[in-house]
Amino acid sequence: MKSFIVRLANLIGETGIYRLLCPNRMPVFMLHRITEGPTALAGAMPADTLRRYLTYLSDRQYHVLTMTELLAVVEQNQCIPDKSVMFTIDDGFRDHHDLAGKIFDEFGFPLNFFVITDLLDSKLWPWDDQINYVIAHTPKVSADIVLPSGQIHPIDLENKTQRQAARELRNQLKREDQEHLYDWLRNQLYPVLDVAFPTDIPPEYRPMSWDDARSLRARGHGVYPHTCSHRILSTLSLAEKQAEINQSLERVETELAYRPDVFAYPTGRRSDYDKNDVAELKKSGFRMAFNTVPDYVRQGQNPYELSRFSLPERLSEFLQIVNRFEALNRRVLRQPELPANFLLTR
Ligand SMILES: [Zn+2]
Repeated sequence: MKSFIVRLANLIGETGIYRLLCPNRMPVFMLHRITEGPTALAGAMPADTLRRYLTYLSDRQYHVLTMTELLAVVEQNQCIPDKSVMFTIDDGFRDHHDLAGKIFDEFGFPLNFFVITDLLDSKLWPWDDQINYVIAHTPKVSADIVLPSGQIHPIDLENKTQRQAARELRNQLKREDQEHLYDWLRNQLYPVLDVAFPTDIPPEYRPMSWDDARSLRARGHGVYPHTCSHRILSTLSLAEKQAEINQSLERVETELAYRPDVFAYPTGRRSDYDKNDVAELKKSGFRMAFNTVPDYVRQGQNPYELSRFSLPERLSEFLQIVNRFEALNRRVLRQPELPANFLLTR
């Protein structure tokens, strides 16, 4: 029944009525991993699904904004063109260049990449993926983990899926002091779960190269910093925050020979960054920053808290956001601007 209503709503959406009723806002989407053929990556989007979404936008003459165009909307309060949409992709994995970037090229659409600079330097792979990896490879079915705070976190793979167990541990670690997180993973978590820490970055978590990043910029895409290590900024000391922001800025500036002025917060919930991070970004010359709170970007809004929708797995859900039925839905149902779980404070 729900899917019938959504299909009907999307059919009506083809007239542009929802965009008329909910003007001056646009969706910015956040892609994750993209795959062609079989993959070890849970939750990766098939390349053909992405192509189907972009074909829809291309056939209907949607305008896929560049970062410069978005800056004019939020900084100079310019009107948002009616059929606007924008795309971003975080972290800087190899498939982001090899698949996502190339698919966007096929359509002539810009894609904006936020890169973890230590990942592109092959110094680390993201802590959240190190958790996915260890949970996927542990021979143990249960273990009590001593978190950096000393608190005990039980792992129970008898009653929970790997995905659930990894998510629970990730969420728990988002509440911990993350200063020594990478040491803790390698020296505490991996040994307790009987997994050898990989000497090389596992193939599915390998980064794109800086050459790839330069090539993306030359092809009209955006490349911006997303910290050095992907640790959650709100858990770090002021000195660590400054280092994450400024050193990642410098790495991009050095490698790509331009000074980036847009940023994305790691994991990006409201509780994952704070006013000190925003102040630091301003001080370093950043003009916009993205979080991951699912909502539309509005004309003239705070440029340091730009919302993004996760790119949905289903076309009907993608259309619902693009045609702004989702915006109308939120208004009519008087739903809070944000789902309650995004407002939880740490
Ligand atoms: Zn990220």
